[in-house]
Amino acid sequence: MIAATLAALAFHASWIVGRPVSSAAAAEPAPTANNDNDDDALRAFAVIDPVDTHVHAFKSDPAFTELMTRLQLHVLDICVADTQGIYGELAAQLARAKGFVAANAGHARLCVTFNPFTFQRKDFAQSTVKQLHEEFAEGAVAVKIWKNIGMEMTTPDGKYVMPDDPAFAPIYREIAAENKTLVAHVAEPSSCWQPPNPDSPDYDYYKENPEWYMYLHPDHPRKEVILAARDHLLEENPRLRVVGAHLGSMETDVDEIARHFDRYPNFAVDTAARMEYLMIQPREKVRNFLIKYQDRVVYGTDLEFLAKDATTDAVKDWQDTYARDWKFLATDQMLPLRGREIEGLNLPEPVLRRIFHDNAVRWIPGIADSAK
Ligand SMILES: [Zn+2]
Repeated sequence: MIAATLAALAFHASWIVGRPVSSAAAAEPAPTANNDNDDDALRAFAVIDPVDTHVHAFKSDPAFTELMTRLQLHVLDICVADTQGIYGELAAQLARAKGFVAANAGHARLCVTFNPFTFQRKDFAQSTVKQLHEEFAEGAVAVKIWKNIGMEMTTPDGKYVMPDDPAFAPIYREIAAENKTLVAHVAEPSSCWQPPNPDSPDYDYYKENPEWYMYLHPDHPRKEVILAARDHLLEENPRLRVVGAHLGSMETDVDEIARHFDRYPNFAVDTAARMEYLMIQPREKVRNFLIKYQDRVVYGTDLEFLAKDATTDAVKDWQDTYARDWKFLATDQMLPLRGREIEGLNLPEPVLRRIFHDNAVRWIPGIADSAK
């Protein structure tokens, strides 16, 4: 009887922290309240069949696969085409992403991308459409465009190329025709255009990436101009499902997101790397927004698992993020944030189910069709 209880306790503990726990360890004093709390959060998170629609995973490791299995987690693994090489050269990055998807069979799907910098080549549209057609046939379920469109790419005469540039129109038509989804990271948080503020969630990022800090580059397009081009894209492609990454870069006010949802039925947003912005807006306003638009917000994190990362660090980072996000959305616990205490939203269960699972399946078909 006692042995059985100890074994059950050991199972409970090892289930969530992902390391073997001996009976002796289980007999030691209980872990700190915080760990216990995270265990409960991750257990409830797993039960809802979570889908994280925004990760960048380019490394395979059985210890990581174990995490995904334990959390019943499905992810969309997103490739990014850039000139900075944050995730490496595109072909190599794609190969590593495909390795991750294969190593986590049934738990990961691919979001591919294309090199936008060749947009002025005569065969750009034709060869990109052909490439995407092949990727879709191999199982890719979405296509990503990135902030370099609108903020970095220029024509030879120095004009910034916007996401609604006619050069991309055949590509958007192809994505819609094949019933795939466009994941659009367009523009940046408003803080990108504002003076440095150590209280901003993005302060460190712009300190470390001054080339993307538009406050230092007033000659670059304003945020409003870039988002207007994104809205034009939505209007011109009513049959194209678009998930606006990072709260659609409308992170400071859920009312602005709501106005876009009302105007563009083909538009949803993910929460990737912007949960803090939901935490710092007025609680009732955010809660009412998520309940009213419960079909339009998909869960995403922007978590990374890169070749250089130690797997144990990544596992901890992913678990911490999922536990924090679950506690914020699903409970009324008080959560620490930059010296403040934020009360969780305690959303109703059907709303949680939509945000963490159903919306991902509906907005990105194929993302988790081998679930369970
Ligand atoms: Zn991302």
